[in-house]
Amino acid sequence: MIIAVDGPTASGKGTIAKRIAAHFGVAYLDTGLLYRAVGRQTAMNGGDPDNAADALAACDFPDELMDDDILRSEETGGLASRASVHPGVRKALFERQRAFAEQDGGAVLDGRDIGTVIAPDADVKLFITASVQERAKRRWLEMIAKNIADEDEIPLSEIERDVVNRDARDISRKDAPLKAAPDAMIIDTTSLDQEQAFEAVLEAVQERIAAS
Ligand code: C5P
Repeated sequence: MIIAVDGPTASGKGTIAKRIAAHFGVAYLDTGLLYRAVGRQTAMNGGDPDNAADALAACDFPDELMDDDILRSEETGGLASRASVHPGVRKALFERQRAFAEQDGGAVLDGRDIGTVIAPDADVKLFITASVQERAKRRWLEMIAKNIADEDEIPLSEIERDVVNRDARDISRKDAPLKAAPDAMIIDTTSLDQEQAFEAVLEAVQERIAAS
């Protein structure tokens, strides 16, 4: 069983996907981490993530980088979003994601193009979204809770601008843009808390599995 979970930045798809994988006892891959590793490795090489050759050269990053907390930073998210527009980078990361999806026992993958490019044959496709304001607020509260920033240091409006920019880049890129697969179930979590969002998704997954 392959479950594809796509959606924009800070939609809560990662938390939901991880819980869905645990619920069904299958493996889970946060594919955003692969792009984050490429973005970070590009910077560590002294390269420019907007340059296709620099970003491609960073695709053979060491596996240990995937466990580095620096990958979770806002700055790395920005580098990832810039590096991920290059078709060569997406191609270089394709096989790794495809092999993960096809493993025995099933898998949940979350990202931007899982249902459209990596696993168009997925048994269940979900597209998790929420309004820009709500996603920015969640990210801001998370940063404050993790002591990454305090309220005065980073205004909510700045996070909102970042979210809008990241959406624009992910949606407008030519290769594998962020979009819901035609057969994806779209779940808007704007007015749901984490528990309600998980319950809504679990119900949708169970319905889809029962129907197949
Ligand atoms: O999901 P996350 O915020 O960690 O992803 C970071 C960036 O990596 C995204 O903004 C997007 O540009 C890119 N990405 C992608 N395709 C994926 C996962 C992430 O292009 N499957």
